[in-house]
Amino acid sequence: MTHASVHISKMTGKLEGFRAISTNTRTNTYCLEQHERAVEHKTDNICGDCYSHTMLKGYRKNMAPALQRNSDLLSSRPLEPQEIPRINDSVFRFSAHGELINDQHMQNLMAITVDNPWCTFALWTKRVDIVFRWLRDNTKPTNLNLIYSNPKKSHIMSKPPKGFDKTFNNVLADEYMDRQNCTGQKCQDCRICYTTNDVVTIIEKVKKY
Ligand code: SF4
Repeated sequence: MTHASVHISKMTGKLEGFRAISTNTRTNTYCLEQHERAVEHKTDNICGDCYSHTMLKGYRKNMAPALQRNSDLLSSRPLEPQEIPRINDSVFRFSAHGELINDQHMQNLMAITVDNPWCTFALWTKRVDIVFRWLRDNTKPTNLNLIYSNPKKSHIMSKPPKGFDKTFNNVLADEYMDRQNCTGQKCQDCRICYTTNDVVTIIEKVKKY
């Protein structure tokens, strides 16, 4: 049997120095619906400002085929043991592009997490429904940081949903300036989201792409 391989991306910009396993935002039904509704109706949903849609439609179009292969592989069946990548990094990002697609996607990311206990993984998601279903039947791995990505701009959610470690919030540049703890720095210099610490509420100003 031929084994498929999970694509690992090298990140740039704020995530310079990190590697990630991502999927294709532009074919994810949840991402498309949230993005289009937010843009069309000018709502306060952060999906209307999504960097990933902008990048994958424009200057990073060439990434889409590899991300789509991950979408297809991770959401369609359990990875074979030989297909679970060996991650030698100390910290690693899940879903730098693309939301969780379905329960199978979550199960595969968790299989990768459990199989690489020396690495701390951070997963950002708005899909509490998928995470809650997974947590109902499983114990969260100790090397996973689950970060709830608050969809509502300018509204700080301080308490994470049950089972999550942190919330990630976006505010306008001139709002909550004394509380913005994620604006301006690079993740490799900060690592709050990738380590165990008592910072629960992450706040960044909305960026324009
Ligand atoms: S709080 Fe730090 S680690 Fe988390 S996203 Fe912001 S810069 Fe990156």
